[in-house]
Amino acid sequence: MPSLTFYGGVNEIGGNKILLEAEDTKLFLDFGMSFKIANTYFAEFLQPRKCTALADFFELGLLPDIEGIYREDYLKHMGRPEEARSVDAVLLTHAHADHAQYIHFLRTDIPIYCTEATKIILQAVEETGSNPLSDLITACDAFTFYETKKGTLGRVTRRNTEFVHERTFHVLEPGEKVTIGSLELEMVPVDHSLPGACGYIIYSDEGNLVYTGDIRFHGSNQALSKNFVEKAKAAEPKWLLSEGTRIDSTQQDSEAGVKSELTQLIADRAKGLVFVEHPIRDLDRVNTIVEAARANNREFAVTLKLAHLIETLGALSPFSLSEVKILVPKKSWGLISKEGIDSKLVERDYATWEREYINRANSITCNALQKNPEHYVVSMNLWEINQLTDIQPESAIWIKSSCEPFSEEMELDEERKRNWLEHFGIKEYFAHASGHASGAELKAIIKEINPDCVYPVHTEHAEMFKDFFKNVVIVNAGKKYT
Ligand SMILES: [Zn+2]
Ligand SMILES: [Zn+2]
Repeated sequence: MPSLTFYGGVNEIGGNKILLEAEDTKLFLDFGMSFKIANTYFAEFLQPRKCTALADFFELGLLPDIEGIYREDYLKHMGRPEEARSVDAVLLTHAHADHAQYIHFLRTDIPIYCTEATKIILQAVEETGSNPLSDLITACDAFTFYETKKGTLGRVTRRNTEFVHERTFHVLEPGEKVTIGSLELEMVPVDHSLPGACGYIIYSDEGNLVYTGDIRFHGSNQALSKNFVEKAKAAEPKWLLSEGTRIDSTQQDSEAGVKSELTQLIADRAKGLVFVEHPIRDLDRVNTIVEAARANNREFAVTLKLAHLIETLGALSPFSLSEVKILVPKKSWGLISKEGIDSKLVERDYATWEREYINRANSITCNALQKNPEHYVVSMNLWEINQLTDIQPESAIWIKSSCEPFSEEMELDEERKRNWLEHFGIKEYFAHASGHASGAELKAIIKEINPDCVYPVHTEHAEMFKDFFKNVVIVNAGKKYT
């Protein structure tokens, strides 16, 4: 039987890093960041140090110390000898950080399997993010010197393109079966709060394994999740690795419900601008907001990052960039909202990727929001909230369409946001549906799939699976299960 070792996603929501070892074949299912461990030891101004390469991460259990999986530049910097690659592939279920972020640390010769949308989102994170752990599609040699034209030594940066390496990605199509060593795998799309999410069915001579990734049944793509359950059932799996984020929740969410709540709130409560705070890359939610805005004769204005994601996803986005407005914020010198300034000078306020979006036909600035507040719904979050000073909104409302804070850091951010809203006299409302299945739904699908045994992951309440299923393995992190 293949063995399983859970290096993350145990007694926590996210951080999934699951090693599957079969005869001659080793795969990782996801390779995500654990927010729980990171928040246990680190804070905004106390982060793992780059200079220690992997040492801070190993010391505190953020990464498992496994031979043959980590990037050679980091290992070399730590004084470790060269290692041979020990893992055949990483299968990603989706591009959320708690499933994919730590591929940053992996050797570039480990092939990564995922959906097309997942790869595009990772690319967008690498291009537009400010996170230093964003070597997702390509990796630039760290702790490396090069000889300058003057014959001195310089530190390698991404500008030294000969030191940038492409990772090997395999984009999977639904229904396609791919062989890796002694295993055969099938990617099956599911509904979740991010485009391109999938689960996997892994076929082996000794039995089949199903991994849900993150899944829900109440979003715009719920048919995908239902199809996943049918395929999983047909595989007659021995092992089911099931997410259990909301195993303790009976609340039945619905994306369609969010749409009617948003539509109603805008109609009943909004006299001026409407700000909506939403999960930043959840394009189903963005689509819901676009439709709710439209139903109220308003247009939705998105951030530059969101504009870039919509455009790069192309046909994989549920709507096109031309259907929304792009809000170009003031940056650096703030020249964008001034009349008659040379466009070359204005551009210099923006990163190269942002310049693409500042002069589109559907680009707007705070001036448009001030002039016609009743025409717009605006994508907004704490990190861009200082634009309120430029906009000076009157009679505006804020709709929080994202999850409640679940850590002390998030509580503090929430408090800061409330202070801003209070300062500008903005009233806050709420309309949200989760990215995860409810307890009742998980129970129903596990009964339907009927595996020999269930390994709960991505949950703080694994023991609750025992209330309705006989063969549940409560996992310990780092222990090998055979
Ligand atoms: Zn997750
Ligand atoms: Zn997720």
